Amino acid sequence: MNEIEQLKQWIQESDNIVFFGGAGVSTESGIPDFRSVDGLYNQKYDYPPETIISHSFYVRNPKEFYRFYKDRMLFTDAKPNAAHRALAALEAQGKLKAVITQNIDGLHQAAGSREVLELHGSVHRNYCTRCGKFYSLQQVIDAEGVPTCDCGGTIKPDVVLYEEGLDQRTLQRAVDYIRNADVLIIGGTSLVVYPAAGLVDYYRGSKLVVINKTVTPRDNFANLVVSGKIGEVFAQGMDV
Ligand code: NAD
Repeated sequence: MNEIEQLKQWIQESDNIVFFGGAGVSTESGIPDFRSVDGLYNQKYDYPPETIISHSFYVRNPKEFYRFYKDRMLFTDAKPNAAHRALAALEAQGKLKAVITQNIDGLHQAAGSREVLELHGSVHRNYCTRCGKFYSLQQVIDAEGVPTCDCGGTIKPDVVLYEEGLDQRTLQRAVDYIRNADVLIIGGTSLVVYPAAGLVDYYRGSKLVVINKTVTPRDNFANLVVSGKIGEVFAQGMDV
């Protein structure tokens, strides 16, 4: 049995699949990841992207932060691809319990997924840091420079910047889903960003699948490694 057939069989047999993914899930939707050769980290800016999207940089230099953020991290035309669609379909069939994602693009919800745990937040939620008022992504895009609230405060995207902590409740829910999963599918993530990557250690089953274009630090622990583009893999594995 080849890898795709094995994946298909485990998906067919299970009603407790959990998916854990990262930026690679959205590259086939035209959103660059961070660490691929054509990813964001291999392009040249005045500061390294890791620096710009850190909390201290945001506080010190919100103007430059927003210039980079609006230019390089917002992809309003991006549409869900076959991987997003397949995961939404599996949930609708009662087979998949949750999507746990490091992505901030909202494409899983756009595809119809309901139980989406966004470990690093979402560009679609934005709040005034002074009064807490909510702002949409469009309002952030339409603002000139640094978006400002009616109250005069600065609007910050609800995304987790470097140096910031993750939401503890979301983390705990992710742990619970992974701990109880029958099949855990990890896909499109370099598994180097912690604490998110450490969540996969909570898996206790024997059907750990890694679907990725390049090798990951967890390939050796996986029960099945499918190397390839995740949208194409899901399209072959599931008729989406
Ligand atoms: P990463 O850039 O570190 O790694 C992406 C991984 O996906 C790489 O191993 C790459 O080989 C693989 N990959 C790329 N395209 C693929 C495809 N089509 N099919 C299968 N594999 C593919 O991303 P990460 O591990 O998610 O960690 C980086 C951080 O980047 C996350 O915290 C996330 O918040 C943030 N991020 C999010 C987005 C987004 O929301 N779409 C985009 C860029 C970065």
